[in-house]
Amino acid sequence: MMTDTLDTTGIAADNVGDTMRAAVVTEFGAALQIAELGLPLPGHGQALVKLETTGVCHTDLHAAQGDWPVKPQPPFIPGHEGYGTVVALGEGVEGLRVGDKVGNAWLWSACGDCEYCRTGWETLCESQRNGGYSVNGSFGSYMLVDAAYAARIPDGADPLEVAPILCAGVTVYKGLKETEARPGQWVAISGIGGLGHIAVQYARAMGLRVVAVDIDDSKLALATELGAEVALNARTADLAAEAHRATGGVHGVLVTAVHPQAFGQAIGLVRRGGTIVFNGLPPGDFPAPIFDIVLKRLTIRGSIVGTRQDLAEALDFYARGLIKPRVTAARLEDVNDIFDRMGRGQIDGRMVIDYRDES
Ligand code: NAD
Ligand code: ZN
Ligand code: ZN
Repeated sequence: MMTDTLDTTGIAADNVGDTMRAAVVTEFGAALQIAELGLPLPGHGQALVKLETTGVCHTDLHAAQGDWPVKPQPPFIPGHEGYGTVVALGEGVEGLRVGDKVGNAWLWSACGDCEYCRTGWETLCESQRNGGYSVNGSFGSYMLVDAAYAARIPDGADPLEVAPILCAGVTVYKGLKETEARPGQWVAISGIGGLGHIAVQYARAMGLRVVAVDIDDSKLALATELGAEVALNARTADLAAEAHRATGGVHGVLVTAVHPQAFGQAIGLVRRGGTIVFNGLPPGDFPAPIFDIVLKRLTIRGSIVGTRQDLAEALDFYARGLIKPRVTAARLEDVNDIFDRMGRGQIDGRMVIDYRDES
């Protein structure tokens, strides 16, 4: 995955004669630069989108810091929870028109023709391109989308609330399915941040019972408000013992936390036969007890975003009023402050950049 280099069209050229403002990563770990740039020109099968909002995912912070083994190439524009309106179409676009409401996503495009794409696993395509990583993303007032992969936004969506569904929502919805927990069973959600607080809501909507785990009591209070029946602070509780006392051991765990410690801990929460799904992507490793995994027939699996179909389903849950992301609006200029606070775990719910006051 993520093998191609950055498409810098949007950074270098002034193709349409109009300009956009964007937050650009020029160097890993440095403050993002707010720059005035030319508009990107939609290529074959692509559309130009004028953004209204974009969520800020912790993945964008990992990208800006160069945290992962496969790195984006500065300069680039992060952002993969962007929502807006199609304003121009490239050649050969089918199924999208000017005026349509769309979103970008981490799965910006895939080849459509490999074994993974053909078998419902386009999220594993080795030729995929990633929004805000290998292709410029939504931290700018305009972006490009691939018409075949752009999210179709349901009518009546709130621009601030729908943005986090485009990554956080689809990721945890798919991750919960991957736990194979059934209605009436227990899942633990470890990490109640942007992803996790939405995971509590999907879990409830899917008929699951929720144990929330975080290191911050205010995040746990939010989880309880959203329907978690048990809330455990990983700093103070004997997690495994308390989870087993309350539930007999959960059937599934979804780890969205941004510290490797949560990954090893998650294994102790499940009952025999349980499945532990990793969504979180902090750099690092974790210890895993071989004996427990074998004798209890545990499954540990990774889960990366979701397919276009998963995203359509995740958006449908939102459109039916079952999911309501907790959002705080911000301006593009706030991006460095948002990253600072995100790094210190000080954001409740999701920060969403609102472009609608500009231009
Ligand atoms: P966030 O910063 O909004 O939330 C992280 C949460 O983890 C916070 O509530 C924090 O208090 C909590 N946390 C930190 N240490 C913990 C610990 N030891 N135990 C329990 N909780 C702990 O981040 P986010 O936007 O929700 O993203 C979370 C992670 O998921 C990031 O690593 C991101 O890159 C990754 N992610 C993965 C996918 C995927 O497809 N797999 C998609 C989106 C994001
Ligand atoms: Zn994301
Ligand atoms: Zn493919």
